[in-house]
Amino acid sequence: MLGTMQDVPLSLSQLLRYGASTHGASEVVTWTDAEPRRETFAQVGERAAQLANALRSLGITADQRVATFMWNNNEHLEAYLAIPAMGAVLHTLNIRLFPDQLIFVANHAEDEVIIVDGTLVPLLAKQLPELKTVRHVIVANGDAASLEAPDGVKVHSYEALLAAQPTSFDWPEIDENSAAAMCYTSGTTGDPKGVVYSHRSIWLHSMQVCMTDGMALSQADKALAIVPQFHAMSWGLPYAAFMVGASLVMPDRFLQPGPIAEILATEKPTFAAAVPTVWQGLLQHLEANPQDISHLREVVVGGSAVPPAMMHTFAEEHGVPVLHAWGMTETSPLGSVARAPQGTSGEQAWAYRYTQGRFPASVRARLIDDSGAELPWDGESVGELEVRGPWIASAYHVSSPAGEATGTVDPEKFHDGWLRTGDVGHITPDGFLTLTDRSKDVIKSGGEWISSVELENSVMAHPAVAEAAVIGIPDEKWDERPLVAVVLKEGEQVSAAELRDFLGDKVAKWQLPENWTFVDEVPKTSVGKFDKKRLRTANAEGELEITRLA
Ligand code: AMP
Repeated sequence: MLGTMQDVPLSLSQLLRYGASTHGASEVVTWTDAEPRRETFAQVGERAAQLANALRSLGITADQRVATFMWNNNEHLEAYLAIPAMGAVLHTLNIRLFPDQLIFVANHAEDEVIIVDGTLVPLLAKQLPELKTVRHVIVANGDAASLEAPDGVKVHSYEALLAAQPTSFDWPEIDENSAAAMCYTSGTTGDPKGVVYSHRSIWLHSMQVCMTDGMALSQADKALAIVPQFHAMSWGLPYAAFMVGASLVMPDRFLQPGPIAEILATEKPTFAAAVPTVWQGLLQHLEANPQDISHLREVVVGGSAVPPAMMHTFAEEHGVPVLHAWGMTETSPLGSVARAPQGTSGEQAWAYRYTQGRFPASVRARLIDDSGAELPWDGESVGELEVRGPWIASAYHVSSPAGEATGTVDPEKFHDGWLRTGDVGHITPDGFLTLTDRSKDVIKSGGEWISSVELENSVMAHPAVAEAAVIGIPDEKWDERPLVAVVLKEGEQVSAAELRDFLGDKVAKWQLPENWTFVDEVPKTSVGKFDKKRLRTANAEGELEITRLA
């Protein structure tokens, strides 16, 4: 027997129609070097219609890929909505990819149009001749004439293109399982892999972002989206905001601690999301330049493990609760969030909040050991995390000039319909995940495992330390031992021996690192995470000055 309910697709054309009408007065604010640009959701809807009409006129009639090479701003929001809602596929290009990777992903996705920010034109121009399928480049916030295009590529001004078009569009009803957007993983090994989100997956994920025990985004919020729109869809914030009418604040290219502090002071957002390294910089800035940020009802931090010390600084110095979240490009990205369960308080509640958190009802999780067996949720058994659910990838995109193939199921990443996350950890009986490492970052010392994340968090709890990254380095006796790369806060001095003493009551004695190096900065990946591969290479090539404690 089938249900008797209407079979209505969960499609982004409905999301756009709804947000632009019911929440037409909500705003997207874009930071600039002069006055911020302000646009209502009603205007976003009209400009999205103009963009869709313009793209039609350029020959985008079906599910061709339209790429963006942009900062977080109102034009990027317009593209986020218009492209999928007209039935095409949005491809967010990561502006920080190495040139070869950028060429690879644009060709692999077969991008036909690229919308680029004026400030990023020089970066794109160098690679443009290698992008085989691109026919049109649209320059937003800049001078289209500044781009010298290769043969066969037409250059347009975003504003001129929109101005020539009507402000309404007959948004089609779209099969909810069709492709809406794609994003390539920023993996540090091998070619990037394309994750293709469907209308349905984005819709359901947006609902989770808005659920009270998700990120609790609502029409009462003004959300500062620092996480880039080119990385894991800005954690779903643009779509979620349109779903509930939360206003958005977009920092554009002003991502340094000073401008972020200014945005906070001027716009007073109630909510913000970014990776730990961004907050680390902001907290240091606020130490020297105190400012009230208690208008933030909550700050979501994820993408890498959040050091507990950072959560305490936010809470105790600024009165702002941090919500620790875990996810991946392949999980749309919201996988789990750490809200302390009912009935807990004090230290017990903190201990829950340090974890990567609980999975929502839509996401199933399991831990798998080296032999492929499933491990219990006993808070101790450590294995690789696998997940399954309606907004979790089931395959990677296959480049298909013939238009047939849709995905490839790489056994390294997929296992019986589950996504292998490559993250290693344990889960408590009440469902709280603690990640101890990436499988490739775990340090194997004398047959035992040392969690690099736990060591990093412990070192970063020292008041003189700005950042600390830990890698395993070869050791004759123990196979591997930890090496700690430390960045000190400006003007601070502390020795390796003092740091090791500081860890004395925090980690097991055999885990205490003897290898330390002080660096100016921990190398970061294109999405702002510690790049341990580069750290390993620097060590292998003898570039690090290591202090070895007896
Ligand atoms: P990406 O696809 O670039 O967003 O990277 C996803 C990876 O980031 C995950 O597989 C984790 O290794 C890491 N990650 C994301 N959130 C967290 C977190 N809260 N704690 C630890 N690692 C995280």
